[in-house]
Amino acid sequence: MTSPTLILILGDQLSAEISSLTDADPAATVILMAEVAAEADYVWHHRKKLAFVFSAMRHHAAALRDAGWMVDYVALDDPANSGSLRGEVARAIQRHRAQRLIVTAAGEWRLRSDMVGWAAALGVSVDIRADDRFLCSEAEFAAWADGRKALRMEYFYRDMRRKTGLLMEGKQPAGGQWNYDADNRKPAARDLMMPRPRRTAPDATTRQVLALVEQRFPDRFGSLDDFWFAVTRDDAQAQFDDFVATALPRFGDYQDAMLGGEPFLYHSVIAQYLNIGLLDPLSICQAVERAWREGHVPLNAAEGYIRQIIGWREYVRGIYWREGHDYAHRNALAATRPLPDFYWSADTDMACVRAAVEQTRDHAYAHHIQRLMVTGNFALLAGVDPHALHLWYLAVYSDAYEWVEAPNTIGMSQFADGGLLASKPYAASGAYIDRMSDYCSGCRYDVKAKSGAKACPFNRLYWPFLIRHADRLARNPRMAPMYRTLNNWGVDKRAALIADGEACLSELGL
Ligand SMILES: Cc1cc2nc3c(=O)[nH]c(=O)nc-3n(C[C@H](O)[C@H](O)[C@H](O)COP(=O)(O)OP(=O)(O)OC[C@H]3O[C@@H](n4cnc5c(N)ncnc54)[C@H](O)[C@@H]3O)c2cc1C
Ligand code: SF4
Repeated sequence: MTSPTLILILGDQLSAEISSLTDADPAATVILMAEVAAEADYVWHHRKKLAFVFSAMRHHAAALRDAGWMVDYVALDDPANSGSLRGEVARAIQRHRAQRLIVTAAGEWRLRSDMVGWAAALGVSVDIRADDRFLCSEAEFAAWADGRKALRMEYFYRDMRRKTGLLMEGKQPAGGQWNYDADNRKPAARDLMMPRPRRTAPDATTRQVLALVEQRFPDRFGSLDDFWFAVTRDDAQAQFDDFVATALPRFGDYQDAMLGGEPFLYHSVIAQYLNIGLLDPLSICQAVERAWREGHVPLNAAEGYIRQIIGWREYVRGIYWREGHDYAHRNALAATRPLPDFYWSADTDMACVRAAVEQTRDHAYAHHIQRLMVTGNFALLAGVDPHALHLWYLAVYSDAYEWVEAPNTIGMSQFADGGLLASKPYAASGAYIDRMSDYCSGCRYDVKAKSGAKACPFNRLYWPFLIRHADRLARNPRMAPMYRTLNNWGVDKRAALIADGEACLSELGL
């Protein structure tokens, strides 16, 4: 090969069909894949997340080689590794005398902005291609959003149903309704059969990566024990197929439920595969629709699941790119409290928070309601700096990439974008957690008590949060019932609530 084209494939671009490879000639191409310190260090990624991505990259490189591609793979512990993607591209250009680089656009502002300068810095032509692994392109989302007063997910989702034809009967939604969420709020019970995600035993490559991560990142958050994630397309697909057969039928009913000792319940635990390209979102949704049409799963489960992927997942990505790179720094509620240490240590008497952090440490996973209504809700009520919280979510989950994590944290969970994404803050007292989980029965705090040292901190912080943000929230129609209650209380009672909230924060060491 005299002057091959260099194609860079990033760690979250492990799809069989990636735009950078579409028209490439294997005989005139070198594929570069590199494990670099800059990507491992820009936040303190959970060790299981690092092991998952590096092992999946190594397996993908092997699959590409088997398919006839020449792959130049730079491992993290290669002594010549420069530590950055730009550095590795520069070295590879020299090594292979390449004059052209092709890459699919990076999935976050940080790297995408850097790539814009590569052509000038590296002296080669750089072709940055759109990432077409999503159902809605950035331009399409912008066209949908432009001119709308409110960007509500539900309307976007209906358009995605029409566009894909998923769960449609002609022009009408299957079953006559677009959304069956009202059926999906059941608390789980202990005696329900609990499926577990299918596990993949680590092979030699994964074991090697686990040893590398152990040795290189001894102080990072997160356990490396009991690694069971799939690291190949086939194993990811097998885990998903198993989910469809065993857990999907109850996904709808128990989507919001939480149970101590049951981190996964009826969730699929596949976001980490979707987000690096081991699974394809449309095929996943088509399989779910098939399962419904064949009578294996009820409509509320199939619709609820498909909505998460063609609705929420696509919608948050659209918001991320449309809003620009300051989005992760927004702080509409001016919250400044540092992230509590117990988000790392799990050292707290709040049983719900402890459970969420412990399972995050052990599995690099918590399901949506734990993220939103436990760790997210607590941070919102306590006034934690949303950017600090964003960095935590970005670090600790195996599925965390900024395009999907930031809108969920900054927008949905912290209302820090001022209500662009969520029509009201997801703030709730302990009553919500008590209704949806069994955590409160084993907690040192009393979920029924409203104030004082024994009372649930979520209760003690809830009303002070509403009082603090009355200027912004009182006119929100969805918050009106809470503010009506608050307005019936006199000045003394409000002052006592604020004082109790302050005492609560101080007792929690915040
Ligand atoms: C504060 C916060 C941070 C989050 N950070 C991330 C993140 O970094 N990466 C991420 O993929 N998801 C994130 N989510 C969304 C959601 O919690 C996860 O996608 C989900 O928990 C992954 O587990 P699962 O695969 O078992 O999902 P399931 O419950 O089985 O849902 C199926 C799929 O739907 C998609 N999905 C569901 N909800 C959302 C959502 N709100 N936004 C986007 N996709 C969704 C995911 O791809 C998921 O795999 C976050 C949510 C919150 C509230
Ligand atoms: S009592 Fe409050 S802190 Fe304890 S588990 Fe219930 S909601 Fe969480």
